[in-house]
Amino acid sequence: MIPYGRQHISEDDVAAVLDVLNSDFLTQGPAVPAFEKAVADYCGARHALATNSATSALHIACLALGAGAGDIVWTSPITFVASSNCALYCGAGIDFVDIDPETCNMSLDKLETKLEAAEREGKLPKIVIPVHFAGQSCEMEKIAALSGKYGFKVIEDASHAIGGSYRGEPIGSCRHSDITIFSFHPVKIVTTGEGGMALTNEAPLAEKMALLRSHGITRDPDFMTHAPDGPWYYQQIELGFNYRMTDIQAALGKSQVNRLDEFVSRRNRLAERYDDLLKALPLMPLGRHPDAYSAYHLYTVRLKLDAIRKSHLEVFEGLRKSGIGVNLHYIPVHTQPYYRKLGFDWGDYPEAENYYRAAITLPLYYGLTEAQQDEVVASLRRLLK
Ligand SMILES: *Cc1c(COP(=O)(O)O)cnc(C)c1O
Repeated sequence: MIPYGRQHISEDDVAAVLDVLNSDFLTQGPAVPAFEKAVADYCGARHALATNSATSALHIACLALGAGAGDIVWTSPITFVASSNCALYCGAGIDFVDIDPETCNMSLDKLETKLEAAEREGKLPKIVIPVHFAGQSCEMEKIAALSGKYGFKVIEDASHAIGGSYRGEPIGSCRHSDITIFSFHPVKIVTTGEGGMALTNEAPLAEKMALLRSHGITRDPDFMTHAPDGPWYYQQIELGFNYRMTDIQAALGKSQVNRLDEFVSRRNRLAERYDDLLKALPLMPLGRHPDAYSAYHLYTVRLKLDAIRKSHLEVFEGLRKSGIGVNLHYIPVHTQPYYRKLGFDWGDYPEAENYYRAAITLPLYYGLTEAQQDEVVASLRRLLK
């Protein structure tokens, strides 16, 4: 089976992990800050905090921005459930903004319309979480302008997008947001096994997230209620979590980041090749926005169901039967049983639902060969003819 995504591990990666295993610190050692610095420098952000997942990073990002009971967080319905669960963890409410059918990112028109209505009703969101779907940046300049006008905070869920850029600047620079989140799950662009990161340019947010990542405990006398009792002393000043990344993971991540540009340019080359090879078939790749250089976490197409005799399910199953490990990103979050219990339902976000009825994610990863890609295309051609 050709999977839809997979990691690429080099001998250098293995050596970096072995170094940590043979060192004094498996966690809370020097590899974590070294990885954080490598990513912060790459992205041009002031602060970076490694966590044990992007989900944890989203949670502490929402908390650091003050999300709690009575607040509302908005995100896209075409995302992994973690982008919206993070609001619920904080006791905040969640709502969605439908997607733009071209890029499948949150629609800016719909965001603006929904903000106007929310202002009239006194229900403006505290935080908006745009998701850079498949690795392509949302229109962050426009989102930042709306954030200025309506007073909400912005967390970029860039779980798909490390190594991509927007208007020539790396995703993660946080120029147009308060916090940016990366995921290092093995299907993503670079991996630490499990892992995530929160980047920000604002020192108070970085301090708050650092506290929340590690039990709400500080060893910094400046944050304590009184002078330390002695050299052993620490204080718990918030209710935090254990969301730390290990040094084993961080060493792998730092080694992977050395190849980030190579990973992303290979993904872009393969994506362009798909664009060419699939041109004559009854399907549509995602639209490319001229301001974005995508990290191409995913290569997603939508079937033109009017132009083919098979159903979406038949094409999907046909590909799986031919050994092509296709997938579907994503089931619209608002249609999940848990979210329907919160009051959402089918029909709420028609563009997201139309997308879901036609979408298939094709294999795309650094190690995918052109011969394998040709096999994917041949299977699709056979099924769609
Ligand atoms: C993968 C992913 C997450 C969660 O990442 P983890 O590191 O697995 O917690 C969140 N949001 C999006 C958009 C993702 O794709």
